[in-house]
Amino acid sequence: MPELPEVETVRRGLTRLVGHAQITSVDVYYEKMVSPEANQFKKMLAGKTIERIDRRGKYLLFRFNDDLTMVSHLRMEGKYDVQPAGNPITKHTHVVFHLADDRDLRYTDTRKFGRMHLLKTGEEAELVAGLKKMGPEPTAETLSVAYMKTIFGKSKKAIKPFLLDQSNIAGLGNIYVDETLWLSRIHPEQPANTIPEFQIRQLRANIIAEIKRAIDGHGTTVHSFSTAYGEAGEFQNHLMVYGRKGEPCFRCGTPIEKTKVAQRGTHFCPDCQALRKNPGETMVLGLTGGIATGKSAVSDLFKAYQIPVIDADKIARKVVAPGTTGLKQIQSTFGWQMIQPDGSLDRHALGTLVFSQPEALAQLNGITGPLIKKAVKRQLQGYRRRKVPLVIYDAPTLFEAHQAAVVNEIMVVTVPEQVQLERLMARDQLPKKEALDRISAQLSLAEKVKRADVVIDNRHSVDKTKAQVVRWLNEAGFGSLMTDKAK
Ligand SMILES: [Zn+2]
Repeated sequence: MPELPEVETVRRGLTRLVGHAQITSVDVYYEKMVSPEANQFKKMLAGKTIERIDRRGKYLLFRFNDDLTMVSHLRMEGKYDVQPAGNPITKHTHVVFHLADDRDLRYTDTRKFGRMHLLKTGEEAELVAGLKKMGPEPTAETLSVAYMKTIFGKSKKAIKPFLLDQSNIAGLGNIYVDETLWLSRIHPEQPANTIPEFQIRQLRANIIAEIKRAIDGHGTTVHSFSTAYGEAGEFQNHLMVYGRKGEPCFRCGTPIEKTKVAQRGTHFCPDCQALRKNPGETMVLGLTGGIATGKSAVSDLFKAYQIPVIDADKIARKVVAPGTTGLKQIQSTFGWQMIQPDGSLDRHALGTLVFSQPEALAQLNGITGPLIKKAVKRQLQGYRRRKVPLVIYDAPTLFEAHQAAVVNEIMVVTVPEQVQLERLMARDQLPKKEALDRISAQLSLAEKVKRADVVIDNRHSVDKTKAQVVRWLNEAGFGSLMTDKAK
């Protein structure tokens, strides 16, 4: 079934092709498809000019002169195309609009589910049942946070069928719901009224961006969809979770699962999108970057607003302090050479080893990762209990150490590669070769940026970086945290 972006693509195509065309006569080959009855339908349209084509949800609204509107729904397989008059029609051609310029606007539909209603302009919302109860369009102007908070708060329904219900939000279909729930890290069966405000905001932003991106990419090509120009949609190349059963999650690496929710095939990441009994109101922002990209400067900006920052490096040191199981495991894996005479970890020796050997780094992460995760979880529980609205998890190896699923959103601080190299050489007094080794021991910056929800470009001044952080805080709904707390 065409989804909203596909229908919008059809609308734009038709506007270009028949935007101001005049209809001379109409042939109806399948009478059940039109209303009023076929003869009346033909008579009303003869001589009319298409003035505009609008869309509401998945309905096309052809606006004619004399206050006449034709409401058209493509249902499963409906298609419009424009051909020179006289071309033979097919057995699936059900309605032909003959145009004054020797062209035909033809409607074909292999399943005959599509419908066309002619009515007085302005009465469509009253007379067409699907339009009557339709929720707002998923755009920044029409879909507000306040509206979403209200409708979410009233429903215990699982979020997936809740979003598919066109009376809540117009035009969301199966693919876009799976995609936006993955982007927002919400389990498809999470009850709507348990979703905290920060996630409603994320979901809203993701829905709006995703639909816009899909429209810009001419919609998906799933099923039999093609645009009024016969172009294939490009959007399916960008799908993050839909149709990726068994493949690793782009964010955390866990295999994507496919299940059924409300009878619909549903894709999700069991790690990023855990079903939560009590999600709590605390949003956790993961903050990461590459070496010397300036992540700590961004971390300091949050601290200046007295937003709590969990420092993964500090925790990483704690879990390998003398006497811990972490340190014992390091000793048994990498040898006594990693332990100093006073019983503490020889960081320099371990650092040299793991920066030159990716397998060693993976082994080290395998030891410290679960310990860090546990310690972070404990700290987060404390913040959630105290209903702290926003906590930053500052973690240089958020992705490498498989911690991406711990957070609600990921911010990556980046600079161009050349700037990164220069800053690292200057900061740590390293020769070029060694600096490059350190950079390549981590996941590439480009890859981190690809997995980010928000990217902070830190190549310019501190002020420019700060402006980006402030913008994010405002957009994510944390603007009030900055009042009177700036240094
Ligand atoms: Zn995941």
